[in-house]
Amino acid sequence: MTITADAGTTTLDLGPARALTCRECGNQIPLAPEFACSECFGPLEVSYEFGDVTRAEIEAGPRSIWRYRGLLPVPSDVDRHPNTEPGLTRLVKADRLGAALGMKSLWVKDDTGNPTHSFKDRVVGVALAAARQLGFRVLACPSTGNLANAVAAAAARAGWESVVLIPSSLERAKILTTAVYDGALIAVDGNYDDVNRLATELAAEHEDWAFVNVNVRPYYAEGSKTLGYEVAEQLGWRLPDQVVVPIASGSQLTKVDKGFRELIDLGLVDGRPYRVFGAQATGCSPVAAAYKAGHDVVTPVKPDTIARSLAIGAPADGPYVLDVVRRTGGAVENVSDDEVVAGIRLLARTEGIFAETAGGVTVATAKKLIETGQLDPEAETVLLITGDGLKTLDAVQDKVGPRATVPPSAAAVREALAD
Ligand SMILES: *Cc1c(COP(=O)(O)O)cnc(C)c1O
Ligand SMILES: [Zn+2]
Repeated sequence: MTITADAGTTTLDLGPARALTCRECGNQIPLAPEFACSECFGPLEVSYEFGDVTRAEIEAGPRSIWRYRGLLPVPSDVDRHPNTEPGLTRLVKADRLGAALGMKSLWVKDDTGNPTHSFKDRVVGVALAAARQLGFRVLACPSTGNLANAVAAAAARAGWESVVLIPSSLERAKILTTAVYDGALIAVDGNYDDVNRLATELAAEHEDWAFVNVNVRPYYAEGSKTLGYEVAEQLGWRLPDQVVVPIASGSQLTKVDKGFRELIDLGLVDGRPYRVFGAQATGCSPVAAAYKAGHDVVTPVKPDTIARSLAIGAPADGPYVLDVVRRTGGAVENVSDDEVVAGIRLLARTEGIFAETAGGVTVATAKKLIETGQLDPEAETVLLITGDGLKTLDAVQDKVGPRATVPPSAAAVREALAD
């Protein structure tokens, strides 16, 4: 499928990005709204010619992902166009969680602090900036929820129209927190994989719609690199020994690795080994299953888990996740829905961070990786907490609540606390 953008090549400014390269056969094409290789149908990825990027320049930049604009497929004046300015979320030294897990040096990257409270603001921010250069004026997506929030909000801020497709079974909070931005929100009777197929069909019909994770996916995916950049910068320009990343399509995990490798190549951090671990919920764990079976291909599954933001049964980046994890000496592990809820509560209780189910997956997986001897408890480790618990209240609503309901008397409170 070829999509023609109205932007001519003379006005196309995507910063250091130079071409789209096929991840399978290496075929290169000029920058365009394309996502599949014309030779082999493999996925396309942005390749770059980086200029001189220094730590000082980055540190002096905007307090958002745009401080890394010299490493992203966006124009150098990207921060002058309305966008959601995601990123530079806190990196929290998680000593109490570390103690609970038996880990010596643990950090939590708290991406609940983004504009629409998930890491998806990073990828959508980059997709919007690139789509603007590519001549689009409508932002669209199929979504498991967080992407819907991020696309609807970014389009609202930019004054663009948005078309957001979601499975009708989505958490109520994620529906409301998308609908409030007043774009076109369509609930589809089907699961995410059905919605995704529908989006691919619609993308072919509507050449002027930028489906962030379909026809502009190569640009969108680059936004996840900023998680890797920030972790390194916030550690004082150093890579962690181990990082645990939740997997939906698997894109984030592969791009955190890409970000780390770029920092090493550019001399912005010392090159040293790091291990990348993937986290899935057992009810949707095709990548963990392939990893454990020693397979290179990922067999699709029908998702059934409370971790709906990660419920992609046919993960596009699955095989690339396996490459990264095996190359770096990591692993992919999976945890039950009960463990997910326990993970949410453990993080909340120890660090005061209320994560959504995806965060519960990451924490619970880290616990299991420690217990099974796969994560090194002595090594410096970063957990990526990618979304906010306020969006998945259903996961904990029957598990937590007031300790007692009492009449308004001090004696009654004393009695309740004594129990
Ligand atoms: C989308 C999402 C991810 C992972 O996304 P990938 O498709 O693997 O890049 C992780 N956490 C949350 C909360 C998400 O919404
Ligand atoms: Zn190819």
